[in-house]
Amino acid sequence: MAVINRILIQVDDCKGCGLCIDACPVNVLDFADELNAMGYRPSHYKGEGCTGCGTCFYTCPEPRAITVVRNIEGLEDGYCPHCKNTVKLLSGFRDSEEKICIECLKPINS
Ligand code: SF4
Ligand code: SF4
Repeated sequence: MAVINRILIQVDDCKGCGLCIDACPVNVLDFADELNAMGYRPSHYKGEGCTGCGTCFYTCPEPRAITVVRNIEGLEDGYCPHCKNTVKLLSGFRDSEEKICIECLKPINS
């Protein structure tokens, strides 16, 4: 089975500097169409092709903006009430005891 990696972007922690977009060696990041709560256009994952290299994470000046998730297929499946869909769930995100949906980054129990 192919290992699928991706990044999670906490859009309201992103200041839209574009450093991660320039740094990604496989060019899978661009700017989102919508502005975030701070009025910036945040970085956006195009949806496929992330190698999980971590370059974006180490480039980003905002310590909470990017999380790299390696081997998504290895994550637990679960229902997200926010997305109203079956999604992959991530445990231990920022030391939280709640599992989060990797699509909307919200705890599945809230
Ligand atoms: S982890 Fe690497 S490949 Fe994936 S988005 Fe970040 S820089 Fe690009
Ligand atoms: S480097 Fe960080 S702050 Fe800058 S655009 Fe990327 S995620 Fe946003």
